[in-house]
Amino acid sequence: MIEFRAPTRRSLFLMLGAAAAVGATTTAQARSSKAAAAYRGAPNGRQSCANCSYFNPPSGCGVVSGPVSPRGWCNLWG
Ligand code: SF4
Repeated sequence: MIEFRAPTRRSLFLMLGAAAAVGATTTAQARSSKAAAAYRGAPNGRQSCANCSYFNPPSGCGVVSGPVSPRGWCNLWG
């Protein structure tokens, strides 16, 4: 038989800490470095940051860390 116990303040605190740690880890791992993504400051044919779905104007990227150029490109283009 399963017994339900109300969570203690300590267990709630631990759960919130664990959730925060997982969130922080996920955020930190969500973006690649420019080197890992083979980012460069020039387009690859018709592909460039400006027409990539991850581009956040004027210089942000959802998957690569740091500022990027609209005329740049990396191997995560999509
Ligand atoms: S091409 Fe690469 S760096 Fe540029 S926006 Fe897309 S994913 Fe980011």
